[in-house]
Amino acid sequence: MSDVKSNLRQVRASLPEGVRLVAVSKFHPAEKLMEAYADGQRIFGESHEQELRTKHEQLPKDIEWHFIGHLQTNKVKLIVPYVSMIEAVDSIRLLREIERQAERQGRAEVRVLLELHLAEEATKYGLTPDDCRQLLSDGEWRTMKHVRICGLMMMASNTDDEARIEREFQMASDLFDEFKSTFFAADDAFCERSWGMSDDYRLAVRHASTMVRIGTTIFGPREY
Ligand SMILES: *Cc1c(COP(=O)(O)O)cnc(C)c1O
Repeated sequence: MSDVKSNLRQVRASLPEGVRLVAVSKFHPAEKLMEAYADGQRIFGESHEQELRTKHEQLPKDIEWHFIGHLQTNKVKLIVPYVSMIEAVDSIRLLREIERQAERQGRAEVRVLLELHLAEEATKYGLTPDDCRQLLSDGEWRTMKHVRICGLMMMASNTDDEARIEREFQMASDLFDEFKSTFFAADDAFCERSWGMSDDYRLAVRHASTMVRIGTTIFGPREY
């Protein structure tokens, strides 16, 4: 069995029922994705627009592509035709551009997650809890017919301090519950909690993750 296949099976076996796996394939060649695809994997995560487009051309069309990286507004139009979910929406400007491009390009609905910034690293993107609350209570998103907010995404701090990581996941989970009851109580589509990567997904699933994004553990180290 190939490494990718056996890694994938190990990861799947360790996920509780109901947690979906995004195989993060950025910087890995199409052949490696095909190994995962051959073993039934259909959701892949990419973080660069050009790479996503190339792989979309090369690979089977029933793959669900999740854009997981920071997305510049001028790149939105390039990925809207291919992307199943945009996971890291961190501004109303970006949300507006997704709406505009989805309408122009005839996409009935683009699913998105709002990215929370809870980690202590200053470099990470994302909305603070207050910014996220503000964006939702402003309500402009309710007028958008082609964008569907399906939940929250976050990255925990890059640290060995497991207690801290768990606190951040729990904070994200609490915010999800707050937003769900305040803004999405009648909206079944708002259901995703995307947290957990190779180093911390075992902690993430203890804190209500519904979607883990795992690269290195499946595909090995990335070659930049
Ligand atoms: C690269 C990346 C991952 C996967 O990280 P691994 O440590 O390789 O599992 C997950 N989420 C985001 C947003 C990423 O950019």
